[in-house]
Amino acid sequence: MSLCAHCNAPSSTRCSLCQSVYYCSPEHIRADWPSHKLDCYVKPPKDALSLSDCVRKKVTGILFAEDADEPRLIQLNVLIGYTRTGQTWQTLNLRPYLPDDEKRGRARVRLDGPMVPGEGGIKLGLMSDVFYRRNFTSDGSQRNRCIERSTKGKMAHPWSGPFIMLRRTHLDTSYDVVMEQDLPMLMKFFTTGQMSGFS
Ligand SMILES: [Zn+2]
Ligand SMILES: [Zn+2]
Repeated sequence: MSLCAHCNAPSSTRCSLCQSVYYCSPEHIRADWPSHKLDCYVKPPKDALSLSDCVRKKVTGILFAEDADEPRLIQLNVLIGYTRTGQTWQTLNLRPYLPDDEKRGRARVRLDGPMVPGEGGIKLGLMSDVFYRRNFTSDGSQRNRCIERSTKGKMAHPWSGPFIMLRRTHLDTSYDVVMEQDLPMLMKFFTTGQMSGFS
């Protein structure tokens, strides 16, 4: 018998999103959400098909934390599924590393990198997504020491708050394991502020 994550009572109902935590009642699902949401997945869109058909996975990204000396690899929870109209959707849980609240929202930029040989010798352009605080210059975010060190102070903007980079796959709705070769386009973004046209 599994135990409720909130009160330890014997329980057989799981969190419907991640299906990895048990709860005794809907009340305790709600009561535990403020802490569980850091480890769970983000809510699917309203027209999502049943949650049992979703793919649950972890992707590896790079985190430039504002108070760190070196970037590090992090694991993020991704939930992928279909909508009623047959489109794919995915949600990504960045909350443990890049919380957002009403005052401090998130921005995302898409970076285009150089062409590299992929599977079967086909050359593919590297692509990545970078997430950060939308108003990092004015929301009180701390200057990002990790980026400052990595760029030796040559920053296009006074980058502040956390920055997370994920490698995109060419399937558009998915992420892949980030690799060493993804870093140059990120460093170019940090030093020039340019988002595309890397060659
Ligand atoms: Zn309970
Ligand atoms: Zn959950």
